[in-house]
Amino acid sequence: MILPGRELISCQLGSHRATHEFQDSPATPVLVHNCGTSPNDRAGTDFTDNGRQTVYDANEAKNGGILKCDYCGRTVERRASRDANGNAIKGLPDDAQIDHEIPKAQGGCGAAHNGCVACRACNRDKSAKTVEQWDDELRDFLPEE
Ligand SMILES: [Zn+2]
Repeated sequence: MILPGRELISCQLGSHRATHEFQDSPATPVLVHNCGTSPNDRAGTDFTDNGRQTVYDANEAKNGGILKCDYCGRTVERRASRDANGNAIKGLPDDAQIDHEIPKAQGGCGAAHNGCVACRACNRDKSAKTVEQWDDELRDFLPEE
């Protein structure tokens, strides 16, 4: 079963394309990540500012000029994380963030093709899990069909 709004996640950016999609078999959605066809020289790294901008631009283009969470589909906003004095500002659930779809801790790369726009709520909940692992975890809380 696939969660509402999360049927398909597709990040197709940059010179080497990666697709991440659920194969809609009843019990076991499978995350497909086709990074392996090219040098993965940014494995385990953070995104660059340019890479982050690339992900934001592609998301806006895909959503008619509106930034949306790639996971839950809510509209998100880019906000400063620090005030003028450099103090951290408490985040909001709909803050736009860039998530490593394949987690950095699991070798996901810091190239734009592994970046997804995520609301803060999704990003915190997904944490260092793959989408597949996260889906499995969420499924545990859903009633049987
Ligand atoms: Zn979200």
